[in-house]
Amino acid sequence: MSGQQSHWDVVIVGAGPVGGYAAYRLSQNGISVLLLEEHAEIGKPFQCAGLVNPGAMKKVDLENTILSQVNGARMYSPSGIEVKIGRPDAIRTHVVCRKLFDEGVVRKGLEVGAELWLKSKPLDVSINPENVSLTIQKQSEKISITASLLIGCDGAHSWVRRQLKMGKPKEFMIGYQVEVTGYRGVDGYLDMFTGNDVAPGLFAWAIPNGKTHRIGVWSRAEDLDGRSCEQLVEYLMEQSQWSDRFENCRETARFCGPIPCGFVPKPWNQRVILLGDAGGMSKPTTGGGIGPGFEAVDSVLDGLLSGLNRNKLTEKDMKKIAKPLMGMRKRQEKARALRDLFVTSCSDDELDNHFEIFSKPEVIKLINEEGDIEKPVPLGMTLLRKVPKFRPLALKAGFAILKSR
Ligand SMILES: Cc1cc2nc3c(=O)[nH]c(=O)nc-3n(C[C@H](O)[C@H](O)[C@H](O)COP(=O)(O)OP(=O)(O)OC[C@H]3O[C@@H](n4cnc5c(N)ncnc54)[C@H](O)[C@@H]3O)c2cc1C
Repeated sequence: MSGQQSHWDVVIVGAGPVGGYAAYRLSQNGISVLLLEEHAEIGKPFQCAGLVNPGAMKKVDLENTILSQVNGARMYSPSGIEVKIGRPDAIRTHVVCRKLFDEGVVRKGLEVGAELWLKSKPLDVSINPENVSLTIQKQSEKISITASLLIGCDGAHSWVRRQLKMGKPKEFMIGYQVEVTGYRGVDGYLDMFTGNDVAPGLFAWAIPNGKTHRIGVWSRAEDLDGRSCEQLVEYLMEQSQWSDRFENCRETARFCGPIPCGFVPKPWNQRVILLGDAGGMSKPTTGGGIGPGFEAVDSVLDGLLSGLNRNKLTEKDMKKIAKPLMGMRKRQEKARALRDLFVTSCSDDELDNHFEIFSKPEVIKLINEEGDIEKPVPLGMTLLRKVPKFRPLALKAGFAILKSR
């Protein structure tokens, strides 16, 4: 233990994509960072469909991890009405190898000076006015260290969040996915299926992934009505009206995991902040957590740097530093209200009605022009304003958005 550094500016618990990105951005700015990862390897195990939007990819420049590109989507109503959006010449999102992506992000942090301890996790923490004290299990050793700031990037079941009693994410979705060969899809398009039989309240997907497809579903526990997500995927592949597309599929892998959507009420404390899944920051509209996690890191970066440099990280300072997260939370809550209105609170018949409207050429044109998966609120509002058949929903939307504030 002699010679071991015992104080760090920042200790980050969890070397997933968000912890890796936080380590990268802080180290790049001269902050000493220790990254703790409980597993022996980065990026394993993972539960992810691998969608990384171009904005998030640009922040880390890891194009070498891309397996395929998505130019559009074919979306299906419960009775099978198809809505095809996107253009072959525009990339909507990338599909990455998640292990390579996570490794790449963490490597960027290490290249600019962060230190990584694998097979290491905190056993105990105490928050003091002048620092954070931690006892770390590092492989077979127990080590005491201090930090000026603790960042919890330790995923959906965050130890930091639970240990410091920082509340719970608003919604916990369950995601389940199999990887298959032999799916009959269309190059460059991901398929989305709706309806109570295959994806109550949300949607199921088939995502092109180079030589394979990722077939999955996510749902809220309360909508499952006694079924498991595994049973929903089996139903989609074997009994649904789309089952012929899966006839020649052979499974090569399967994953299951929680998706925390909805910021914890207060993702900060004196000398502590939660980022990424630990703080419940995945999008309620898609379940994507990488883009919002990176955005959360960037939004608080300047505040954290200034707080660290001046050693001003009291509860009051942290509240100010974390303010941009509250803006993100507001936007996500509005998106959730529109999601509920258009999809989650709808019966299959109502969903069919919505798809009927979505499938009109003038509406598809509008979606293609204004549709940005990153900004569902402006698109939702445009649809409510410009599509006469959606007008009856506009009043409800207004109330729902007001309530979401
Ligand atoms: C089926 C499914 C599909 C998904 N598809 C997508 C998608 O296509 N696109 C997308 O953007 N998101 C997707 N997500 C969500 C995405 O996987 C997460 O939002 C993302 O991984 C969050 O990153 P993170 O770094 O916050 O947490 P994580 O990726 O969970 O990383 C947390 C890290 O912390 C480590 N850790 C945990 N506890 C401790 C501890 N006590 N000590 C030390 N280390 C610890 C873990 O081992 C892990 O390495 C999907 C999720 C599921 C379940």
